[in-house]
Amino acid sequence: MTPLRSELRDFNTMRMQAKCRSVIPVFSEQDVFDVLVQELHPLKIIGGGSNILITKDQDAYILKNEIKGIEIIDEDGDNALVKVGAGENWHLLVLWTISHGLGGIENLALIPGCVGAAPMQNIGAYGVEQESVFHSLQAIDLVEGTTKTFYKEDCKFGYRESIFKNEVKGKYIITHVNYLFSKHPKLNTSYGAINQKLQEKQVDNPTIEDVAHAVIEIRQSKLPDPKIIPNTGSFFKNPVVGIDVLESIKVRFPSVVSYPVDEKMVKIPAAWLIQHAGYKGMRHGDAATHENHALVLVNHGNATGNEMLSFAEIIQNGVEDKFGIRLVPEVNIW
Ligand SMILES: Cc1cc2nc3c(=O)[nH]c(=O)nc-3n(C[C@H](O)[C@H](O)[C@H](O)COP(=O)(O)OP(=O)(O)OC[C@H]3O[C@@H](n4cnc5c(N)ncnc54)[C@H](O)[C@@H]3O)c2cc1C
Repeated sequence: MTPLRSELRDFNTMRMQAKCRSVIPVFSEQDVFDVLVQELHPLKIIGGGSNILITKDQDAYILKNEIKGIEIIDEDGDNALVKVGAGENWHLLVLWTISHGLGGIENLALIPGCVGAAPMQNIGAYGVEQESVFHSLQAIDLVEGTTKTFYKEDCKFGYRESIFKNEVKGKYIITHVNYLFSKHPKLNTSYGAINQKLQEKQVDNPTIEDVAHAVIEIRQSKLPDPKIIPNTGSFFKNPVVGIDVLESIKVRFPSVVSYPVDEKMVKIPAAWLIQHAGYKGMRHGDAATHENHALVLVNHGNATGNEMLSFAEIIQNGVEDKFGIRLVPEVNIW
């Protein structure tokens, strides 16, 4: 068996240092089948490494998804069905859709990572989730070596959730994702910051390109660039709680922010909870919350995965003590 010799630091945006048996790039489905016949176990998948926190050496062979290609495979007057290699960079896909006049993911501009991880965690931002344009995906079963198509109803998409994070976790490598984009896009500018940015720029009749540029500017002003300060974006999910829980928090904290989910449930921004529990900008060694965005945990240099995790637990405990809500990590802990 190959010794633990490959370094993972350059493969994850939190810049965690850890070893694995080897990192194996796969450029096609055939490359995946070729790896499977070698019976290397266990296998793990990595894309851009922007949604993982590595806490220890990985006793595994890691497939780095490099499967590329973006092509329109079907279209009519209204929509285009686009097949995308799972190793394509997500933001480059957004730019490609804009250059082809196809709408649907302009609000998801500048999210780091690869297309293959997008359905895994049903990425979302500014009022849009990838499931709204998702059609289907192809994946290879890492044990059986068979190819399977998953349609939207198979994927059990939820808020930063899918079947790939739960029931079939680690069982498949997603090789291609098919998205149905609109040729007559309805813009979603309901998110206040987008409207405000468009107004600032005096854009009265925005296009998909205007919305994407507004999103890019908002994100660049708010979120730390992982190339400069290592991070994985939002570390925790925004908790969804009953209205009764919100009401009891409101008694003590009338300024609490919330967004309706349905008649009974609301979403409370985790950033608000973390900030009001006193952890915004707090630093423990090299593990910290970002000074402008309490939900983003950052590595100021040499924090280890376990130090990041301990710091996350301090935040979880502090928020729970103050508000009675236990935050759940959004990132995948390895
Ligand atoms: C600055 C910053 C901002 C962010 N903003 C957002 C945001 O606004 N919204 C949002 O939703 N997320 C956001 N994220 C999180 C992250 O960008 C997304 O979750 C992204 O989809 C992760 O892609 P990746 O290729 O880096 O995945 P990785 O971190 O490489 O992998 C994540 C998980 O998916 C699995 N996986 C990856 N590829 C495949 C595949 N082909 N087949 C099967 N499993 C696979 C991996 O095994 C792992 O468990 C942000 C991250 C950063 C650093």
